[in-house]
Amino acid sequence: MSDFEGLTALVTGGASGIGRATADLLADRGATVAVLDLDPSTVDKPLTGHRADVTDDASVRAAVTAAVHGLGGLDILVNNAGIGARGTVETNSDEEWHHVFDVNVLGMVRTARACLPHLRASAHAAIVNTCSIAATAGLPQRALYSATKGAVYSLTLAMAADHVREGIRVNCVNPGTVDTPWIGRLLAAADDPAAERAALEARQPAGRLVSAAEVAAAIAHLASPLSGATTGTALAVDGGMQGLRPRPA
Ligand code: NAD
Repeated sequence: MSDFEGLTALVTGGASGIGRATADLLADRGATVAVLDLDPSTVDKPLTGHRADVTDDASVRAAVTAAVHGLGGLDILVNNAGIGARGTVETNSDEEWHHVFDVNVLGMVRTARACLPHLRASAHAAIVNTCSIAATAGLPQRALYSATKGAVYSLTLAMAADHVREGIRVNCVNPGTVDTPWIGRLLAAADDPAAERAALEARQPAGRLVSAAEVAAAIAHLASPLSGATTGTALAVDGGMQGLRPRPA
């Protein structure tokens, strides 16, 4: 029997990239899965899609209520919706700082707040937040994005402490550069997308990007009841980007 048989999960940002790969994997492994996304139009069976903007508390609460009603309860929250941002402290405006924090940090807070009352009723409750190696590595042109992911990392630890005695585990994954539509958009904006992709791959210790399926597998590992003693941790899924020395050219 699969470790997710009989369990229910909600995946935010689950219409694309890492979120979609995670929703598909959890469903393949036996969970009943709902997706919350700005645009759930591409979400099809066996997943169910719910439209919500994580910057809008009322829409998050309505979508979580509808999703939990459809699922018949909630065991797992994958807090994954997020957006990127390039720039330094001199180039990003206050408006950009407020907006990216609103999506990447407060979005996870709002969703967790709406889900916690339901997770308390589960015997296998788990939250997995999608963080990033940007939380702990100094990356150029990523001041704003890195600060949001640093906040997600701290939030993960604090939430793990707050809810451990309620039997709710809270962990995060720290992906490196993952081959998702997000990276596709980044490359499409480059002068020479093929050269940009080759340069990106060459910077990876493994010589290739991480796949969304590989991040999904790490999220499933942390969400699984088999990981019942794992809480307050960050699991790197970065092809060695953070832990390994750069290879000589
Ligand atoms: P993606 O753009 O492919 O998917 C993101 C999904 O989130 C989309 O379906 C989008 O509609 C949804 N979303 C965005 N804003 C939303 C909002 N306000 N409300 C509801 N849904 C919203 O991106 P991805 O690469 O799969 O990224 C997913 C997560 O992984 C993000 O938190 C990102 O920070 C993190 N991450 C990505 C990478 C990478 O290299 N791709 C690396 C590290 C961490």
